[in-house]
Amino acid sequence: MSDKRDYYEVLGVAKNATADEIKKAYRKMAIKYHPDKNPGDKEAEEKFKEAAEAYDVLSNDEKRQRYDQFGHNMGQQGFPGGGFGGFSGGGMSMDDIFSMFGDIFGGHMGGSGFAGATGGRQRQRQRRGTDLRIRVKMTLEDIANGVDKTLKIPTFVKCEHCNGTGAKDGVAFATCHTCHGSGTVTQVQNSIFGAMQSQVVCPECEGSGKTITERCSYCNGEGVQRKDQQISFHIPAGVSEGMTLTVRGKGNAPRRGGVNGDLLVVIEEIKHPELIRDGNDVIYNLMLDLPTAILGGSVEVPTIGGRARLKIAAGTQPGKVLRLRGKGLPAQDGGARGDELINVMVYIPEKLSDSERQAVEAMRNSPNITPTEAEKQRIFSKLKHIFE
Ligand SMILES: [Zn+2]
Ligand SMILES: [Zn+2]
Repeated sequence: MSDKRDYYEVLGVAKNATADEIKKAYRKMAIKYHPDKNPGDKEAEEKFKEAAEAYDVLSNDEKRQRYDQFGHNMGQQGFPGGGFGGFSGGGMSMDDIFSMFGDIFGGHMGGSGFAGATGGRQRQRQRRGTDLRIRVKMTLEDIANGVDKTLKIPTFVKCEHCNGTGAKDGVAFATCHTCHGSGTVTQVQNSIFGAMQSQVVCPECEGSGKTITERCSYCNGEGVQRKDQQISFHIPAGVSEGMTLTVRGKGNAPRRGGVNGDLLVVIEEIKHPELIRDGNDVIYNLMLDLPTAILGGSVEVPTIGGRARLKIAAGTQPGKVLRLRGKGLPAQDGGARGDELINVMVYIPEKLSDSERQAVEAMRNSPNITPTEAEKQRIFSKLKHIFE
């Protein structure tokens, strides 16, 4: 996978390129390396596919964001068992590529025109079901460990009575009158390469070559039925708010046969009552009482795994950050686990009893209560985030 070229480099655009710049760059590449202009040229075909793959990722905000974050590992990293496809790099078929063209070249240069024009190959466009999107709430503990989820999700599945065909018992078909069963019809079309005669998908039977003579009564000819599906998937450790994971093929089945859409799992973080997430680190704001800050002691702090005892050294300054190494979240990119940072504050009471007031008053003129200039500088130099 490491020999893959950077997607921005493939399209020759800057990392911060706008959606429009990306689209323009891709359009140029698609025309230059189009198989119809480079018949039999394997290298051009590879370039054509490479550009399409790059465009597929960079034109989609979610995919682009993941790519920027994880690079080419975006689909695989941390997804054991291959349950998540993410983006299957290099797995784009020519059909996938041509199906994007309606978007790129506008209506008249749409998918079927191009698709049909490609070497006269007969192309039955696979219908694809719609994607399903669910939100999954994750606690900090879930994020730290990763979770296996099994959810009941209402989906459209293939009608079992007609095997998804929409025809009664899956057999009530006749040969299509429009294309006489070939699934394609000839069409003359003006394109950027001049007038071209091309084979396009038959509009009557949508490429199947058959028409339904009697509809399946269970699905009313749709080929799909509503069903609560039990879907299991794994959410890896280290995910974050808004991240979308793709479970391939677990979305809706399309009408009358084809491939299923995907299930998109959107991560929603539940705020921890005491810990604040900061990337792979977690932050805890610790409020020490004055005697413990001065004399030292031991306090209990929350961590992702439960509570932990923490030794406080005598003379602990407010503003000091204590670090519990490895007590943060695992890194998604395989890097080091984060830490828990304990931000020390010292509670200064606002109301005092008479005896407390006397005790503090008595301290006022003690020699060690007021810092010397050198002592101040020594402490400031230790507090990294002090204002300078
Ligand atoms: Zn037909
Ligand atoms: Zn049916």
